[in-house]
This record gives sequence, structure tokens and C-alpha cells, in this order.
Amino acid sequence: MNHDRSRELYDRALSVLAGGVNSSVRATRPYPFVIERGDGAHVIDADGNRYLDYVMGYGPLLYGHDAPEQVQSAIQRHASQGPMYGGPTEIEVDHAEFVARHVPSVEMLRFVNSGTEATVSAVRLARAYTGRDTIVVMQGGYHGAQESTLVEAGDDPSHTRPSSPGIPESFAEHTIAVPFNNEAAIREVFEERGDEIAAVLTEPILANYGIVMPVDGYHETLRGLCDDHGSLLIFDEVITGFRVGGLQCAQGKFGVTPDLTTFGKIIGGGFPVGAIGGPAEIVEHFTPSGDVFQSGTFSGHPVTMAAGNEYLRYAAEHDVYDHVNDLGDRLRSGIRDICEDQAPEYTVVGTDSMFKTVFTREAPGAFENHCGGGCRQRESCERFETCPKTGADTAAAATERWERVFWQEMKEQGIWLTANQFESQFVSDAHTEADIEETLEAYKEAL
Ligand SMILES: *Cc1c(COP(=O)(O)O)cnc(C)c1O
Repeated sequence: MNHDRSRELYDRALSVLAGGVNSSVRATRPYPFVIERGDGAHVIDADGNRYLDYVMGYGPLLYGHDAPEQVQSAIQRHASQGPMYGGPTEIEVDHAEFVARHVPSVEMLRFVNSGTEATVSAVRLARAYTGRDTIVVMQGGYHGAQESTLVEAGDDPSHTRPSSPGIPESFAEHTIAVPFNNEAAIREVFEERGDEIAAVLTEPILANYGIVMPVDGYHETLRGLCDDHGSLLIFDEVITGFRVGGLQCAQGKFGVTPDLTTFGKIIGGGFPVGAIGGPAEIVEHFTPSGDVFQSGTFSGHPVTMAAGNEYLRYAAEHDVYDHVNDLGDRLRSGIRDICEDQAPEYTVVGTDSMFKTVFTREAPGAFENHCGGGCRQRESCERFETCPKTGADTAAAATERWERVFWQEMKEQGIWLTANQFESQFVSDAHTEADIEETLEAYKEAL
């Protein structure tokens, strides 16, 4: 593959964009290929190379790069009519009604412009509603580029530190980071500081650091502890929303009802979006019905609302989730079979249309009775003791090999995976069975 033009463009970018990119994960080594356009399940770069795309915008693109006709015409119509006004529009109401109708815990919403903005506002709302300051998050959980959750656990888990320069230590003092899936750890935190905890904020599945599924009963434990101590349970469904569990989202799949839910990615149909949803009794504390300040020039942008609403309507009317989940299953099972032959220590993870191969360093050779379609954290599985259960377990994998050797080899074979060991990959409605076969052949070569 020739990458001359991408190299030239990145050279220009390095002079005017910090690190040559606008989101850090895009700066793949030695330099990223610069994308010119999308085509179904593929992207084409500036040198004319074609890649089968499993990045899918890092989550939003449920249909790949050619949205259904009804989505495209709604986007065109709203873009040419406005595109935005600073006054309310009908399409915001339509979209909110759709989400509230399908997601179990949601009665009312506030739309914002990114997943980060959604988690910022959800944390503010939870703190105001409970009159408490402390937030509990999961180590390896991701909630966007915001001060309250960019933290890492110190050696003493009660002393959380900022994970980036520029965040005052005093922010991190209000955040506790516990290991995901560890019931004893979260019980201890609630025993010691339960009456200070405004909320537990977690992804239902760690999807930015794994993928890591919850062990049986973990979310029920969180739900119970929050109820017992008057804390809110916030599910960050920015990535799982309308991807895992179909239209009911991951909370429907797991049968656990959070107090607040944050959304992003798919609900914007490919445009910048975020949302906070929950019962009216909590969400109405946002201004102007309540006193928790929340506002945004572009919030509920008509083009975004139209794209997101048609996206979800199309999914409600067609068997989109059956298709993408079936392909996800085939892909995970196929990769599992390849691992059995070529890299038995690796763990295939994911669910629905999300997948990843974690380069775990140790696992029993046994594949019998192993979860074929991606690790489910089944205690009866012989690999249960060694499959990743926390962010730290994923970080202990062969992450350099994943990124510097495996990712590069897949790219050169025309398969575009997310840029490192940690981020989830996605199957879209545009992918076909033939694409899956091609991908498995590439895994066979690269693993
Ligand atoms: C992507 C993501 C975010 C951040 O959303 P942005 O739109 O990038 O700000 C927050 N939480 C989760 C779980 C995400 O996957």
C-alpha cells in the first residue's frame, strides 16, 4: 500500500493541529492514513487505498457510511431549512419521545452535544439532587474528557489522582475509582463513605478498555448499594446505547434500571450529540424547570435530532440488530477458532455488534465449554479465572504487540481496526457475510 499523500497531509496537519489530530486516539503510528470518504462498510484514504472499517466513527455509525435513504433525506431537509435557530423545534420532541418510549429508565431527557457533556451534566445533576459531592467510577471506565472522571487509583484506592495534568488534585478528591466487577471493593467503599456518595457512574460494559462484561450479579449489587445509601446509579450508555440490547439498550439486556442514563454516539445518527435521561422527578432539576444550570447553543440541534431520530426509527422498522448481532457472533466465534489454533492465550470479547481480541498473556489451553461468541464471564468456564474482569486486567495484556504489530498488519491487509488494545470495534449494518470471511482470513494471517 502506498501512503505518500497521507504522510504529506499529516505533515501539514502537524503544523496547525496539536499532534496533527483533533482527537488523540486518531494519531496512529507512524502516521495515520487520512480519510477521504466512506463507502458502505469501507473507507477510502487519500492515496486511494480501501479498508474494511470496524472503527465506525468509534461507535456512532450503526449503518456504516451510507445511511438509509430516510436518514439522508431528513438530514438534507433540516440542513437546508435552518440549520438551527435558538428556539425549540418539533424534531427535538419527536426524538425525546422515541428514546423515552424504548429505554426502560427514561421518562425525560436533556439533549447536549457530546458524550462528555452528557456525563458532566449527569454528575452535576446527581450532586445537586443528593446534596453530596462524591462520585464512584470504575478503573478503566471512560466518561469523556471531563475533570471529575479523568482519574486513576493510587496505591491506596481511597486516594484517587487526576490522570491528566491540568486537573487540580481537589477534583480527584471527590472521585473514588474502584475495580470493575469487584463486589468486595464497592461494598467497602459504601461501608466507609456511603453517606457521601452522590452517584456510582459506570458503563454497563467496559467498552473503552477491553471490552469487559459484568460478572453475574455485579450490576444488581451496584443497584442495591445505591438504593440502600440514597445514591444514584448512573449508566453511561454513550457507547452501548442503541447498540447493545437493541432499542432498550444495555440496561434492558441486563434487566437493571439505573436512575440516570447518559447517551451519545448512535442517538445522533453520525452528528455530534449527547443526552441525559431519567425520571422527570430527577431530570426536571435541570434549569429552567429546576435550578441545576444546564445550557447549550447547539443542544438539540435540528440536523442531529433528525439524523438520530430517523436512525432509530429505521432500526425499529427493520431487522438491523439481528443482522449486526449475527455478524458480530460469527466474527467472534471465527476469531475464537483461529485463536484456538494460533494463540490459545488470547481472549475474544464482546457482545452484540461489538468485538475485540484481548492479547491476554495466560489462559488455560482448554477451549471446551468456553464462550464461543465472546467472553460472558461464566463461572463454569475453565478460562473464568484468567479472562479480563477489570481495566487493569486488560492493561496487563500484550498491548504493545496489539498496537505496533497486529494493528499494523491488519491495516496493511485492508482491515481497519480501532487504534489500540482498549477501544471496542463495531460491525455495522453495511457489513456482509463476505466481509466477515475476508476479515477472518486477515486474522489468520496476522495473529
Ligand atoms: C465515547 C464515550 C464518551 C465520550 O463521548 P464524546 O462524544 O466523545 O465526548 C463517554 N462515555 C462513553 C462510555 C463513551 O464511549
